[in-house]
Amino acid sequence: MTRVPCIALIAHDQMKDEMASFATRHVAKLLQWRIVATGTTGGRIKDACPELDVTRLKSGPLGGDQQIGALISTGEVDMLIFFVDPLTPMPHDVDVKALMRLATVYDIPMALNLATAEIVMQTLTA
Ligand code: PGA
Repeated sequence: MTRVPCIALIAHDQMKDEMASFATRHVAKLLQWRIVATGTTGGRIKDACPELDVTRLKSGPLGGDQQIGALISTGEVDMLIFFVDPLTPMPHDVDVKALMRLATVYDIPMALNLATAEIVMQTLTA
């Protein structure tokens, strides 16, 4: 039995509309993936695309980014799409940096903005 690859989806508050429309545009490809998301982002994706199976973790400021980092370190997350808001200070900035660091350490594809995420999705077959 082949393992279903896992994608982590996160969007900061000002980027959540962008993530919802991104998921809607790419729903056919995302159906091929196991999806994990931080709490609020996961809820927005589920509202936009009820057909997707989304595992919602804690909200980012309450540890969700760290949970995704842990899943990267155990090899359970294969790709990260994280729509970062560079214009708003965030209480969990250190968690965000730690997550990006782990994605770099474990060398998984990591898209931090829409333009890169679109290119990544173009490379996926489905
Ligand atoms: P959220 O967390 O999806 O629960 O808003 C994302 C974040 O702020 O890191």
